[in-house]
Amino acid sequence: MTSGAELIQIAHNDEETRAGNYFVSNYPPYSFWTPEKRSEAFDALDRKPAPGTTLGLYLHIPFCRKRCHFCYFRVYTDKNSDDIQHYIDSAVRELELYAERPFIDGRLPRFIYFGGGTPSYLSVRQLTGLIGEMQRVLPWDRAEEIAFEGEPGTLTEPKMQAIRDLGITRLSLGVEHFEDRVLQLNGRAHGSKEIDRAYNFARSAGFPQINIDLIAGMMGDTPDGWQHSVRKTIELAPDSVTIYQMEIPFNTTIYQEMKERGAEIAPVASWATKRGWVSSAFEQLEAAGYTVTSAYTAVKDPARTRFLYRDELWTGADLVALGVASFSHVGGTHFQNEHNWGPYLERIAKGELPIYRALTPTPEERMIRELLLQFKLGHVESGYFRQKFGVEIRERFAPAVDRLKEWGFLSEQGETLQLNREGLLQADRLIHEFFLPEHRDARYA
Ligand code: SF4
Repeated sequence: MTSGAELIQIAHNDEETRAGNYFVSNYPPYSFWTPEKRSEAFDALDRKPAPGTTLGLYLHIPFCRKRCHFCYFRVYTDKNSDDIQHYIDSAVRELELYAERPFIDGRLPRFIYFGGGTPSYLSVRQLTGLIGEMQRVLPWDRAEEIAFEGEPGTLTEPKMQAIRDLGITRLSLGVEHFEDRVLQLNGRAHGSKEIDRAYNFARSAGFPQINIDLIAGMMGDTPDGWQHSVRKTIELAPDSVTIYQMEIPFNTTIYQEMKERGAEIAPVASWATKRGWVSSAFEQLEAAGYTVTSAYTAVKDPARTRFLYRDELWTGADLVALGVASFSHVGGTHFQNEHNWGPYLERIAKGELPIYRALTPTPEERMIRELLLQFKLGHVESGYFRQKFGVEIRERFAPAVDRLKEWGFLSEQGETLQLNREGLLQADRLIHEFFLPEHRDARYA
């Protein structure tokens, strides 16, 4: 039998950053989604929604000025304006194809998310055309949140105002770090001057919510550099701050270089260092009046600043995701689009939905998915799972709960399972304890 001290040692072992995914964005892992199960996605689209299911819309804009060395998204840096217009027209056509299917059932989207890639890479003319056309198909004048990701170097004052005038309510700036040396070393296209400029444009444009994204532990980051980034963020006083810990998935340039060198350890800070940096950032943000609301987020005013996209997805909303390689979730089935430019566009040109692979989780897997995702908020409510899934999570997951308690990361407070700060900072690692055995060693690709 392993002692408590040994278990803590196991939990803390192997703190160097190695290649692979750390961040858990969905469950079961993507490697279990298959082309053979594609028909399940079409079946889900032909069913009416369960009463009260929220509908959200996502569009992946896969264009960037250059590819960051740590990037693992589907992005293109070589497309001209005709290619981009062709992509926009195809995404609108894709939305039309969805709008004809029974699962829509008269619903309008409650939230919309423009992600990337770099949505702000598009010109004002392209954005105006895109958003006008999307709204023609599925109006969103009653949507509560329209979120948009921007790269500071692509945002001029007129573009920022146009984005706001198009109805965007939440602008997320991909700042990542405030030191030019670190930004350059990691292949970012923007510099520190562009951050201040873009932020000021955003404030004057009057977005209801501005978020700043940071990454702890980028290549070349130092304690002083990180401290500088946290201080600058607090000075700008965004409505929310999202901090990721640097991970090196297999499809990054950094991993390619590691492979060529035969290196196993990534050239970035260890997990313990990254946790320490995020912990210190959270403490400073709390001292400045922010509240930590998830493993990655601190918000200035939790009563006013919500993030509907995350909260609805983590509680089972339907998400129609348009664009190359996008991930949807409809009527309990997960599916992903064709993940290459050519096949994505070709299938739409043929009048087909470009679905590439799918998976319908079992009711138990669906329950575990929500449990994992909600743990990233720092706490899980037993009552929610009893009511929605008829499961007593304390009993169903007794060994995992006991392990996390023994390791000193979790406590029980009445009906709530609560991660402490140290647990929250490594939630993505700890939630593997709740995975079904067959999913434990899966690659998250
Ligand atoms: S800006 Fe974002 S999406 Fe584009 S290359 Fe960099 S990390 Fe990838």
